[in-house]
Amino acid sequence: MCYFITVVAAGLPLSRLNELALTRRIVFTECHNHSVATQLRPDETYLAHDSVCDCGTELGSRLRTPSKRHSVDPAGPTADDWLTLIHSAMNAGAKRLGLLYHWYTHDVTTETITVARKPVPVDLLTTAMLLELPEDTLVMVTRTGHAPADK
Ligand SMILES: [Zn+2]
Repeated sequence: MCYFITVVAAGLPLSRLNELALTRRIVFTECHNHSVATQLRPDETYLAHDSVCDCGTELGSRLRTPSKRHSVDPAGPTADDWLTLIHSAMNAGAKRLGLLYHWYTHDVTTETITVARKPVPVDLLTTAMLLELPEDTLVMVTRTGHAPADK
């Protein structure tokens, strides 16, 4: 089916995130996926973007070659776009912002995913890390200097 990069946000309203994402050509909507929701914390929101799938984007195309149907979208968000957006979100007050890279065999709302979680302090995040996103691991960018309990 398709790769999608979905997002988990904490401490930043969706409307504010979308203001920041607009310049990166990304628009997020809340994604009601029961499987993922049960694995999130109370202050976290699961978000999908409404662009084309990520099969052909810089972050999404790494592991499986896109079919012609999912050809590379030159206007799709790049690794630099994601890095800039994450930094903007953290500067705007987000507590955490995570990216989840997953190959969906069902719709993004009905897919069952077992999500691993990997905290990364925002100061250590690089485009190289974004280009090596592991599948099914929520790479959760955290504010630097937070207590371990907040990761
Ligand atoms: Zn696709």
